[in-house]
Amino acid sequence: MSSIDSEGMLISYRVELRRFQTIEHGDLLGVRALVIHQTDAPTARHTFNGYLSKGNGAHFLIEKDGAIYQTASVKKRCYHVGRYLRSKCLALDKATCDSRQVQSIQALTWTLQIRALDRYERTKDYPERYPMNADSLGIELVGKHLDAARYEEVTAMQKQSLRWLVSELHGHFRLTPKDVYTHPQISYKHPGEASTAEWQ
Ligand SMILES: [Zn+2]
Repeated sequence: MSSIDSEGMLISYRVELRRFQTIEHGDLLGVRALVIHQTDAPTARHTFNGYLSKGNGAHFLIEKDGAIYQTASVKKRCYHVGRYLRSKCLALDKATCDSRQVQSIQALTWTLQIRALDRYERTKDYPERYPMNADSLGIELVGKHLDAARYEEVTAMQKQSLRWLVSELHGHFRLTPKDVYTHPQISYKHPGEASTAEWQ
């Protein structure tokens, strides 16, 4: 069991607090979803070093041995989703898209299409669109990118810690299993990122 303090930090013997205000960018509107990532770094230390100077980051980091770190307040926004959202209606059920809008967007070149789809998606409310930085928490799993299709396999201990963390966050923010995404599902990322993560 865990609780959340007034600073937005998860209080539990399972979580080590290692907050980096360098990766916090204003307040979250609320927590509607969780996004699972992999760091493309060999250890947690590499990511911490990056967080000292870099603006991008996520709220939690799970080391290969299962150690859970909270790296940003759950009340603050982190840049973990990326610039352009994918279209949820196109990915799940094209019939639920506004067909006129989508037809005109799909007539564009690929680069323009990505931007136009992102703008179209941001006119919707969650859960009609994928989560964005303003309404989601990011969870990073330590793991290197291997080749065009794969990341390192998520370890058994990481899976166990992720399951615990996701279930605690479900309780605190009234989320359901449908509100958990991997990064490549929602934006244009390396397809292997977090593909071996399990949280149920
Ligand atoms: Zn990611």
